[in-house]
Amino acid sequence: MPLVQTRKKTRTLHVGDVAVGGDAPVSVQSMANTRTEDVAATVAQIRRLEEVGCEIIRVAVPGMEAAEAIASIKKQISIPLVADIHFDHRLAIAAAEHGADALRINPGNIGSRDKVVKVVSCARERGLPIRIGVNAGSLSQEILDRFDGVTPEAMVASALENIRILEELDFFDIKVSLKASDVTRTVEAYRLLSSKVDYPLHVGVTEAGSLFPGVVKSSLGIGMLLSEGIGDTIRVSLTRDPVEEIRVGQEILKSLELRRFGPEVVSCPTCGRCNIDLFSISEQVEEALLGRKTPVKIAIMGCVVNGPGEAREADIGIAGGNGIGILFEKGKVVKKFPEEQLVEVLLAAIDAFEKKQQA
Ligand code: SF4
Repeated sequence: MPLVQTRKKTRTLHVGDVAVGGDAPVSVQSMANTRTEDVAATVAQIRRLEEVGCEIIRVAVPGMEAAEAIASIKKQISIPLVADIHFDHRLAIAAAEHGADALRINPGNIGSRDKVVKVVSCARERGLPIRIGVNAGSLSQEILDRFDGVTPEAMVASALENIRILEELDFFDIKVSLKASDVTRTVEAYRLLSSKVDYPLHVGVTEAGSLFPGVVKSSLGIGMLLSEGIGDTIRVSLTRDPVEEIRVGQEILKSLELRRFGPEVVSCPTCGRCNIDLFSISEQVEEALLGRKTPVKIAIMGCVVNGPGEAREADIGIAGGNGIGILFEKGKVVKKFPEEQLVEVLLAAIDAFEKKQQA
């Protein structure tokens, strides 16, 4: 039985040149944590994110300087940029005019109808989608009273109210996120919304925490939803370098066999037979492989006797111990060398594998 159920059919929209929803692959996105008006720092961070495969980037637009900075940022990056605006319709319009590829703004928070109309007209003229981003922490008092607190139903009601405002203006280029910081409410809210609308869903668990709890919560929350066919684009939220968010997001999609992103590294958990520093070796290899595109399964194993056999499904592998390093392919030893060359021999073998694949 396949791990991922049939994907829920959603509308397709485009954020720049990235399709979201419908049959488009589930994309991985992140948010810059630099001050947007610091163009050099923001561009440098987005370029690092592009290198590891980030497909859409969001930046905060808390003021006019940030909105205007988008023009310079856009000239120096290659992935689509989403402007994240709270409340102020003038910032949304300025961000669009300066080249944002999408807006994240909740129409219910903008104020009077004429302000909403201005934002929607501006988005429509430029072909920009709008993401409605409902956050469990910022529901209106009226909704909190109606649903007796922050429930999945309250989050969905807030999303539907925002959706209705856009639909009444004949605007349907909408994607929606519904984030809570706990897995249960997040999953229940997305399930409920998915049963009611066919807009593409941006899935994530917000404020998931630092690396360890963040990875667990995001993998569970995003993974459960994707396995039910819910979710068109994902963002892993971590209190970390956003590069880590992309790595985790890609691992989630790879684990569910929804996408392939470059090399897949497996390494043994180590046991009493291991007498090399496998933790450091696997970290060095993973760092060196960041951003590589060729799908190749790599094994890093802790002992020369059992390692190759245990990792016979890997395309290429290394194992070491007692001063000897070995390189193996599909479980068969192809080369022996001094143990201190483990990382360099593996990287050279991966280069050769990539060349063969490209030939
Ligand atoms: Fe232990 Fe060797 Fe297996 Fe690693 S490969 S878990 S070191 S037996």
